[in-house]
Amino acid sequence: MDVEATRSVRQAEVGSTLTMLDRTAERFDIPPEWLAADTAYGSEDNLVEIVLKRQILPFIPVIDKGERTDGTLSRSDFIWDDENDRYLCPEGKDLRHRRRNYSDPERFSTEMKPRRYRASKADCQICALKEQCCPNSETRSLQRGKFEIVRDFARFCTASAFNEIASRRRKKVEMPFAHLKRILGLNRLRLRGPMGAKDEFTLAAIAQNLRKMTTLCPATVPSTPSG
Ligand code: SF4
Repeated sequence: MDVEATRSVRQAEVGSTLTMLDRTAERFDIPPEWLAADTAYGSEDNLVEIVLKRQILPFIPVIDKGERTDGTLSRSDFIWDDENDRYLCPEGKDLRHRRRNYSDPERFSTEMKPRRYRASKADCQICALKEQCCPNSETRSLQRGKFEIVRDFARFCTASAFNEIASRRRKKVEMPFAHLKRILGLNRLRLRGPMGAKDEFTLAAIAQNLRKMTTLCPATVPSTPSG
């Protein structure tokens, strides 16, 4: 439905997705209900564009820098409890960004912004998992980004049963790329510069669509001349 040539840079490739989404919606009035892509597309900025601005369900693994590789507990070991605005640690203790209940509601803003959630010192000091959780600090804390709710939504989508169907459909889309490289010999571009690449991509996409159309349209059987 669309094609966009970019430099081989992640940022540019991700940006081209948004360009094609908008162009397809504008040209054909077809906004997709869901989008499947690999982790390269799972940055917070991209998810915000897809989910909040375009209302598309993301079947995209989230890029997660909160995962630890030193054997200590990662962010994913903590459970987010949206109703009570807190994280729960593996010991079932809560991490909160405020522990006082202010009588003045003005002091508590519901505005989306980054927040740090902390466990209580009393809980962590006597905890059996302290060395595994926060060996170098008195308590464990987690930063929750302004759009963590969007990332949580993407995690929810990728954990749903539909994710398998979305992944299968995504892999099917990769077949034409393999065909372009192996059969049509497009593993290297012949034309120079961004405009050359754009032309070559567009011509390749036309060739792909014509090939596809031959499989969709029934072959016409030539009529036998009578007499
Ligand atoms: S150290 Fe604190 S935050 Fe970590 S598991 Fe124990 S009680 Fe929970």
